[in-house]
This record gives sequence, structure tokens and C-alpha cells, in this order.
Amino acid sequence: MNQLRNIEQLIEPQLVIEGADVLLKRSIAPRRSNEFDPFLLFDHFAFNDPTEGPIRGFPTHPHRGIETVTYMLEGSVRHRDSLENIGSIKEGDVQWMTSGRGILHEEMPQRGYNGNIYGFQLWVNLPARLKMSEPRYQEVSDQTIPVVEKNGAKIRLVAGTVDGVSGPVTEIAAAPLYMDIQLAPDMEWMLPTPAGHTVVAYVFEGEAVFSGESVASVMMIKYEDGDHIHVKTENSPVRFMLMAGAPFKEPIVPYGPFVMNTEEEIYQALADLRAGTFVK
Ligand code: MN
Repeated sequence: MNQLRNIEQLIEPQLVIEGADVLLKRSIAPRRSNEFDPFLLFDHFAFNDPTEGPIRGFPTHPHRGIETVTYMLEGSVRHRDSLENIGSIKEGDVQWMTSGRGILHEEMPQRGYNGNIYGFQLWVNLPARLKMSEPRYQEVSDQTIPVVEKNGAKIRLVAGTVDGVSGPVTEIAAAPLYMDIQLAPDMEWMLPTPAGHTVVAYVFEGEAVFSGESVASVMMIKYEDGDHIHVKTENSPVRFMLMAGAPFKEPIVPYGPFVMNTEEEIYQALADLRAGTFVK
């Protein structure tokens, strides 16, 4: 490891309303410029006032051409889809959903014991050759996510390998790292990240010095290229999601819940929905 990744950009998440009255913070949104290739979207659900009654969530909607990754820390998400899957993503669980050619699903957040809903949804692109593949789920429960603890670092590994331990989500086209990292105060931590891959970190608790720059929550960091990242804590602990993935370097056309390579493919998705042939 000899090329430190410096910070290219700090992105302050913006409040947006999605689905049926769900207030969330968005730091990456799908755009044709595709600056975060292979990542398309990153949403943080944490901003519904516990006193405001039931939230409505995301009623039935389609996806095509992407993967959606839901990770819950408080509360849960009840989901149901066109493949007749039904279940609940609970505290500590991850659902890695590969929409492929098409899925219709609903995602309804439920409050946890103390009234909160806290979690993240990441969208990962699929390359052109897999956009029309069969839909697939990888459901990972809290207990099956390995935790690597060493010298004040605690890492929950969803995808990728740290110190010889691998996360349970595999066979994803973007070859991603996806991990939840907590660092104690007053320590230094380094992680090798494949050169040429896109690396971002979402700092959601505390603060630390990332590649020499102080960053406090809540903030998305986009890194320059290199082969490792370096984080140093001072008086405060820090917690962040780390994402790395291989860019596909293909043109994209995002349209709502679809991300395809051409406008024609978007029109086809809309035509398939109208014709009732969107899902098999
Ligand atoms: Mn969805």
C-alpha cells in the first residue's frame, strides 16, 4: 500500500421526500453523469419524528437494471414482491436485491422499540449484460454478518474481505466492499481498497480525520483513486459505512426506479409495465 486515497469531494446529504411521505437524507442520486459509478443512490432513513404517527413507506413500485441494498440499524422494513417473497428486514439485517429485468415490490418501514427508524438504502448499478437477468435476493440476518474486532475497530462485513474474514454477500457484478465501521477514540486505521475502484464513506456518527481532513457526521466522502484509505480518531469515536466497487464505465439513463443504458430501454420498461409483461 503506497498510494493514499485523498478526499475528492465532501457531500452534505439533502433532505428529500420519497415514496409516500418518507423524509430521508440523500447524498447520492442517480444521474447520467454517473460520478459514483457503480453506485447510483445512497439514502439515510433517520428523520421521521417518533411522535408523528405511522409512516407510510414505499407502496408497490417497480425496479429494473439495478440492485437495491437495505441495511437497518433501528426499526424494520416489511417487504413483499412479485416473486411472492414476503418478510421483514430487521435490526442489523441486510437485504441485497438484484432486480435484473424486473421486480415489483413494496417496502414499508416499521418503528423500532423506541419509536425510531434508522437505516440505509444503497443502489448499485448492473452492467448492460446483466440488466435483463433474473431477479435475485441475498437476505442476510443480523447474526450471520461477521464482525471483525481489532485494536479498537469494530467492522460488520456485509460484502468484501477484511483480515481474512469475508462478508456473506457474494457474486455481485460490481465486486463491492460494503461494511459498517466503528472506531474508538484515539486510534489509527487503514484499509486496502482496490486501485481503480470507486470508494465512498458515509460518516453518520461522531467525527474523525479522513486522509488528513476532519470530517464530522453526517457527511458523504468521495475518495480519489489510490490503494488504501486512512482514518484517525481523536477525542471522539466515529461510525461510517464504507462502500467500494468496480466502475462499469457504461452510459446510463436513470428514470425513477429504473436505470438502463439507453432511452429506448427506459421506454421498453414503461411499455412492459403498461402491457403487464414487466415481471414474468
Ligand atoms: Mn424499492
